[in-house]
Amino acid sequence: MEHFSEQPLVDFVRGVSGPELGKDIRAHLAKGCLKCKTAHDAWSRVRRLAAEDSVYAPPENLVRLVKLEFSSKAARRPMKWTLANLVFNSLAQPLQAGVRSGALNVWQVIYEAEGLTVDLRFGRRSPSREVHVVGQVFDKQAVRALKNNATIELSTEKDQLIATTAITALGEFHIEFEPKEHLWLSVKTSGRNTVRIPLTNPA
Ligand SMILES: [Zn+2]
Repeated sequence: MEHFSEQPLVDFVRGVSGPELGKDIRAHLAKGCLKCKTAHDAWSRVRRLAAEDSVYAPPENLVRLVKLEFSSKAARRPMKWTLANLVFNSLAQPLQAGVRSGALNVWQVIYEAEGLTVDLRFGRRSPSREVHVVGQVFDKQAVRALKNNATIELSTEKDQLIATTAITALGEFHIEFEPKEHLWLSVKTSGRNTVRIPLTNPA
């Protein structure tokens, strides 16, 4: 299946893609492509956010505006960021027998960006509402867990910090949070753009 890259999806979200392309994207999303849906949903939220508190004229290029906006909000420590691509989602896989029986409530997703692979496993310890995430960050080029210092941040789409943690020497981290709409998980390392992962419905 051929996927849509960032710019066509952003144009679609802004309603400025041509009728042909718009039709293709709509049909593709209707087929349930998770990769494009995740990107589409993330950009839709970002567009709403930009529209809500925008003091700008309608942007020529939403991607540029949004990056500018995020970086200006984090002006004390300017950051460049990259939206991660979803490459695996366990909910899209056929369930294994053990999982189907219901004892285990774990959801795994894998994202990639900036030469990093980020493996996230979500779970919940009932009866608590808290969601816990166990993650591991790999350096794709070195084919091993990320060893340099990295920080994981969980924030709202308005850039309010909810939780932060450092990764271990094995590239692992653990974070717990109250489920909430539209959270972002950021992986901050030196020498790379911050990798931002939209947590689509972590519940
Ligand atoms: Zn797709």
